[in-house]
Amino acid sequence: MVDKRKTQQHHEALEDMQNPSRARQKLPIWLQKQDLTEADLPYTHSLLMSSFTDWLDEVEGFPWLGGVMIMLHPDGTCVSIGGQMEDTELDLASWNVEVIGPTAASTALDTCRPTLMRAEEHLMSRLKKFDSIAVPIFTRTTGFPCAIVACLLPAGSAQAGDLKLLQAAALHIRSCIYRHFENLFVSGLLRERKLSMKEESRREILFDVMRRLNDHIDVENVLSEVLDSLEQLYPICKVDLFLSQDYSSPNEKVKPLAFHLNDMDLCKSAFVDGKIRVERSNGRHQLALPLSGKQGVYGVLRLNTPQEDEFDEADISFLAMLAAAAGAAFEKAKLHEQANILVGELRLINELTQRLNSSLKLSDTMQFASVELLSIFNSDFCCVLQFDPVNQEFVVLSANVAEMIGETYSKEYGFCGIMWSTKEPIILSDYCSASPVASQLMDVTKSKSLLAAPLLLNGDVIGAVLITKREPNHFSYDNYKLLQVLSAHLGLAMSNATLHAEVRRMVITDNLTGLYARHYLNERIGRKQLRDSSGTLIVVDIDHFKKINDTYGHQIGDDILIQVSGIIRTSIRDSDIAARWGGEELAIYLPLLVLEQTERVAERIRQRVETETNPQVTVSCGISEWRVADEKVSVESLFFKADMALYEAKHHGRNCVVVG
Ligand code: GH3
Ligand code: MG
Ligand code: MG
Repeated sequence: MVDKRKTQQHHEALEDMQNPSRARQKLPIWLQKQDLTEADLPYTHSLLMSSFTDWLDEVEGFPWLGGVMIMLHPDGTCVSIGGQMEDTELDLASWNVEVIGPTAASTALDTCRPTLMRAEEHLMSRLKKFDSIAVPIFTRTTGFPCAIVACLLPAGSAQAGDLKLLQAAALHIRSCIYRHFENLFVSGLLRERKLSMKEESRREILFDVMRRLNDHIDVENVLSEVLDSLEQLYPICKVDLFLSQDYSSPNEKVKPLAFHLNDMDLCKSAFVDGKIRVERSNGRHQLALPLSGKQGVYGVLRLNTPQEDEFDEADISFLAMLAAAAGAAFEKAKLHEQANILVGELRLINELTQRLNSSLKLSDTMQFASVELLSIFNSDFCCVLQFDPVNQEFVVLSANVAEMIGETYSKEYGFCGIMWSTKEPIILSDYCSASPVASQLMDVTKSKSLLAAPLLLNGDVIGAVLITKREPNHFSYDNYKLLQVLSAHLGLAMSNATLHAEVRRMVITDNLTGLYARHYLNERIGRKQLRDSSGTLIVVDIDHFKKINDTYGHQIGDDILIQVSGIIRTSIRDSDIAARWGGEELAIYLPLLVLEQTERVAERIRQRVETETNPQVTVSCGISEWRVADEKVSVESLFFKADMALYEAKHHGRNCVVVG
C-alpha cells in the first residue's frame, strides 16, 4: 500500500508528523490525492473496523434510527456492528451476504446505489423481521465502493428520510476511513523512513568497521576490532569467536573451535558449510557467522542474545557483510603474518648459511652453529655431533656442556640412535614424563624439552644436532619445522668442512712418507718468520741412496724413505714440522729452538737411522738458524744455509751433522 511513493511525500509526511495540528488543519494536496486501490481491498478490514468504531464514538448521542448499524466490507463480510439487536438468533458478527441472503446491503453492493428494502422483500433472507437500508461508500478519487454501511430497522419502520440520513452518515464514515487511511499511510512512510535510516547507519558503521579492519595488518588487532565493533553495535549480545587454527590469542573472547562441546552444533554447521546459521529457541536468539576468506573458513563468530527478536533480516544481512569483511581482513593479516615469519626465517637461514660457509674449518663452523641455534630457539644447551663412518659412532664436535666435548656414542645410543634409524627430527615436550630413550645430554643438563634433527647428506646420516631446554613444553611445531630446514644447511656445512679438511690434508701431505709437503713447510716457515723471533731447520739427506735403489730396487728405497720419515716423526716435538723436501731429502723446522738443541735432535735422528733402518742406511744433516735480528730473514736463505751445511756434511764423509 505504501511503496513507490516519492521522496517529497516522505518529507512532507515527516513535517506533518512533527506538527500534527498543522497536518489536520491543512492536509497536503499530495496526501489528499492518495487513495485506496482495488489491490488494497484484501487488507482493509481492520481499517474499516477502526474507522467505523471512531465514527460510532463521534456520533454518540445522535438521534439515530433505533436500528442496528452494520459496516460491511465490499467482499460481503461484516466488519463491525453498532447498536443492539432484538433478534438474538441472528449472528450479525458473522454477517455474510451469501449467508444472510438478499438485503439492501447485497443490492447496494451489486448496484452501487443507496437501497431500501422492506421486510416483505426479505423473503429470501433471514431478516424477515427487519427493513434494511444500505449505502455504498465510494473511494474519494478512484470511485469504487470500499465499504457498505447498512442499517436494520424494525419491519415497516423504514422511511425514505432514513436512507438520506444513512447517506449523510456514510459520508461521515468515509471521512473517518480516510483519516485512518492517511494516518496509516503516513505511519507506513515513517516506518519505512526509520528503517532506511537504520539501514543507512548500519552501512556507515559497516564502512567504518571495514576501513578500520583494513588499517590493521596484525591478526590480534583485527580480532579485537571485530569483537569490539560487534559489542558496541549489539551491547546486550554475548560475542564469542571460535578459531579453528592453532592460534592462541590473549583475547579471552577468542576460543578454540571445539566441536565435541554440547552447545557448538550451530557453530559447527556454520563452519562446515560457510553459511550464517540462526537459531531461535527458549527465548534466546543465537547467530553463528562463519569467518571466512578466499582460502577457507577460519572460525565462527557467535552472537547470543536473551531477546528472541534481537536480529531482523536487515541485521542478519548486515552481520553477514561484517563477518565477510572480518574474514577477509583476518585472512589478509594471517597471510601477512605468515609472510613475515617466512621472510624472517629466510633471512635467518640466509645469514646462517652465509656465516656457516664463511669458515671451512669444521670446529669453527659447528661452534658457530651451536651458538646460533641456542639463540634462535631460545634454548639452554646445544650439541652438534658428527658421525664417524670408520668407527661407526657419533663424535661430539661442539657442545656448551663441558662433560660432552669429544665424547663418542654408539650409533644405537640415545636420540642420535633414533635419528640414525629413522632419519627424522625429534620433538620431545617432557623428557622426565615420557622419553623413548635415555640420554646423557638430557640427564647431565637436567633438560626436559628436546628438539633434535639428523644432519643428512644424500640421504645418509652424517651427524646430528640436539637442542634442549630445562623447562618442559618449550619447543613448538614451528620450531621443529625450522630446525628441519636449518639442519639441511648444517648438514651441508658439516660435509663441506669435512671434505675441505680432507682435501687440505691431502694437499699438504706427502703421499709416500705421510710427512708434510714441501710447499706447506715453506708456508709455515714463512708465517713463523713473521711472528716468531727465531727458528732452526734441519735438512736430512740419505747417504748413497742411489746405491740403495740400485742394490735393493726402488720399492725398498721407498720403504727406507718411510722408515727414515718415521724415525724423524718420533724424534721431534708436536710443534715441529717435518716435511719431504724433495726426492730423498727431508726437512724439519723447529720453531724457537736454539742451535745446540737442534743439533741434539739431528744427532738423535742420525743415530736412530743408523741403528734402526733395515736395510741399514745413514743420513747426513745440515742445520741452519734464523733470528729476527738477522739482516735478511727468508725461507730461501734458511734453506740455502742448511743446504750448504749438508753439502759440508757430505764432504766430511757423510753420516754426520753440520751446523751452518
Ligand atoms: P749422496 O746424497 O750421499 O751424495 O748420494 P745419493 O746417492 O743419495 O745421491 P743423490 O742425492 O744425488 O741422489 C738421490 C737419489 O735418490 C736419486 C734417486 O734415484 C733417489 N730417489 C729420489 N727420490 C726417490 C724416491 O722417491 N724413491 C726412491 N726409491 N728413490 C728416490
Ligand atoms: Mg739428495
Ligand atoms: Mg742422498
